[in-house]
Amino acid sequence: MLSKFLRKPVDVAPRQDRRRFLSIGAGALACAAVARPALARSAALAPERSLAFYNLHTGESLKTVYWADGDYVSGSLSEINYLLRDFRNDEVKAIHPDLLDLLHAITDRLGTSKPIQLISGYRSPATNAMLHARSDGVAVHSLHMDGMASDIRIPGHDLRELHKVALSLRGGGVGYYPKSDFVHVDVGRVRRWTGA
Ligand SMILES: [Zn+2]
Repeated sequence: MLSKFLRKPVDVAPRQDRRRFLSIGAGALACAAVARPALARSAALAPERSLAFYNLHTGESLKTVYWADGDYVSGSLSEINYLLRDFRNDEVKAIHPDLLDLLHAITDRLGTSKPIQLISGYRSPATNAMLHARSDGVAVHSLHMDGMASDIRIPGHDLRELHKVALSLRGGGVGYYPKSDFVHVDVGRVRRWTGA
């Protein structure tokens, strides 16, 4: 019986920490709402946010609820980070949660639950340097290196439609690559360009 009582205070402490952590999370979300009104509006309606990916290079799929009960789900973020890793050398980096919210808003606007086809997520410095040497279209320091960008297409939706939706959300940079059949979306400055 004594051990039962002794365990109680230990149980209470992490729960309080958790509550504190959640309130910080809500504050961060309020800041995001000011910066990205379109994203916040669509996110506010959903009690949970999920994302589905299909990585075209590795053939891996993932469908996961990455936000629930007012906070990001850390285990799901880890799974997403792994799926969006640099497929050339398996380097993993944390993907910025704003990018996940942007991707979620895009699928929400398109009204699709089909997996986002991923052409490129995180790019390690080595991979980015290699791609930059090969192509003028790759920046010296791409936002892919910060886990803030992805190159995507969505099955069943015309690339022009995806492009239009991405632009309308004003969540960051949008690059249109009709020949390569993908749209680049990032959570950097709001800007747009067309590539090959
Ligand atoms: Zn890109």
